[in-house]
Amino acid sequence: VNIEKDSDLMHIVHITAEMAPIAKVGGLGDVVTGLARACLSRGHTVDIMLPFYECIPKQQINELELMTTYNSYHDGSWVPTNVYRGVVSGIPVILIEPSNHFFKGQFVYGGSYNELEAYLFFSRACLEWMQVTGTQPDIIHVHEWQTGALPLLYWDMYHHLSLKKPRLVLTIHNMEHYGECSKEQLSMCGLDGSGYATIDKAIDDRTIGHNPERLSLLKGGIVYSNSVVYHGILNGIDTAMWNPAKDVFLPSKFHAQEAEGKKICKRYVQRGLGLAPDCSRVSKDEPDSVNRVPLVVCITRLVAQKGLHLITHAIKQVEELNEASRRDVMTSRTMIALERSAFSSTFQRGGRGGGRGSFRGRTAINVGNYIDGLHGGEIAQVDMEGGQMVVLGKASDGRVEREFEGLSNLVILMELYTASFPFPSSLNDLNCFPEIIEMLLTFCEELSHMLYAAADMVLVPSIYEPCGLAQMIGMRYGAIPIVRKTGGLADTVFDMDDQSNSDMANGFVFEGIDEGSFNWALDRACRHFREKPDEWNDIVRKVMEIDNSWNNTAGKYIDVYNSIRARC
Ligand code: ADP
Repeated sequence: VNIEKDSDLMHIVHITAEMAPIAKVGGLGDVVTGLARACLSRGHTVDIMLPFYECIPKQQINELELMTTYNSYHDGSWVPTNVYRGVVSGIPVILIEPSNHFFKGQFVYGGSYNELEAYLFFSRACLEWMQVTGTQPDIIHVHEWQTGALPLLYWDMYHHLSLKKPRLVLTIHNMEHYGECSKEQLSMCGLDGSGYATIDKAIDDRTIGHNPERLSLLKGGIVYSNSVVYHGILNGIDTAMWNPAKDVFLPSKFHAQEAEGKKICKRYVQRGLGLAPDCSRVSKDEPDSVNRVPLVVCITRLVAQKGLHLITHAIKQVEELNEASRRDVMTSRTMIALERSAFSSTFQRGGRGGGRGSFRGRTAINVGNYIDGLHGGEIAQVDMEGGQMVVLGKASDGRVEREFEGLSNLVILMELYTASFPFPSSLNDLNCFPEIIEMLLTFCEELSHMLYAAADMVLVPSIYEPCGLAQMIGMRYGAIPIVRKTGGLADTVFDMDDQSNSDMANGFVFEGIDEGSFNWALDRACRHFREKPDEWNDIVRKVMEIDNSWNNTAGKYIDVYNSIRARC
């Protein structure tokens, strides 16, 4: 890690709608936390300001204290607002809590308040707090449309008051959402909305379906920021949070030189989800051979960008495979039922979840027909044509959610509470089971860690992907990525069968958005896994050692900060 010279040290304040792990919906939360940590470790002073969402788990905030109460403007009146400070995962946070209904609800997004108006309020409230307290960071780093109005407020209002020093960086993580708003709505934060309805300010005539009456907060943010980052700087992963050698959510830790723990994680997840474990082949000819079932995971927001049709295709293909082999399917279901009842009874005996141990739907997908039957209580597998797939995903759109719910006899999505798991210390010790509280189409950070650790492959079939973290996290946890060749996925994953680039080879890549292209990559990955186990283990070691940390890329952000900071 580079420690900067004193004269180069800066005070950087991120203003953001998400922060991992307390308010994370997707990669934005990871990026903010990872970049903040990397800058802190270089000696900079960093704060993260975010709304104090009602859903934030307060027990994850250390040293939480009320700092001050002040008034911030919204729609003609001044709203009493609390400001808290605390430390999350070693990073200082400042939480803005208005006394009105904003940011109330069970989730980060999708509350019953008007989101656009709430983030307009939040943008102004952050500057108002700086003004009231005389806080003048070198850099205010805003993210996405939610904080797009802040640069307007800064240059047209607060810079004329007492905030002189800060300079502004806007990072666009995903251009799909741009914060479309009316002039009247923009006026709610105290700016004259109609004054921004021009092409050189907040009208974006290049938006599809552009409405000349509507403003774009993102466009305004682009125009008014000192620097805009939306390509060229690849994200990193926060290696403090994503570290299989120390990850508290894993039943067994592991790293590139000692990967035995990964097998335990795989078995743990397989047992927990009612999937057949990798096990000894029942065969007189090859008594010591082991059937390794490839476990593919897909952890994603369930939105069109993520290649939903390819994910559902995978699920439907399983159904077709199952149709083609009804006998094996029946066997497989029997096995799952047996696994489940063992699971439930363990849970009922030892569980602390108040009896909510029943399964709703199924949490995993058996891809293929690999289970031949139960022999004397042992599960024997004779056909290695198939594999297993687990999808963990949350949909924000009701239609998508219903579509996936419709597949729920195959898709396994669940919420696990891991804090008090009786973690096993060896493969033989796996008669203990996690508590299952409920199975949902859900977001679950703990389960995502376990799935990455358990996975042989991580699937990222995005239609477009500005950077993508799932493939990088997967690799750090020894899961080989299968990705579509687009954006940051193309920059970080290189095909195993591309002879011209074998040094970089670390996964399986497909180009088209059609099912054929996708099948081709998945088939190659599964074949490689089955037919070349030693090579596979080598590649697992190799991907775990790839450095996709912020160490590599934080310096590029520091260069951006340095290029715009006011030196006085
Ligand atoms: P995006 O920011 O577009 O969602 P990224 O790949 O950049 O995509 O980041 C996604 C992050 O969100 C990763 O850390 C991934 O593990 C996490 N994630 C996505 N869906 C879920 C889920 N349902 N449960 C837990 N973590 C999830």
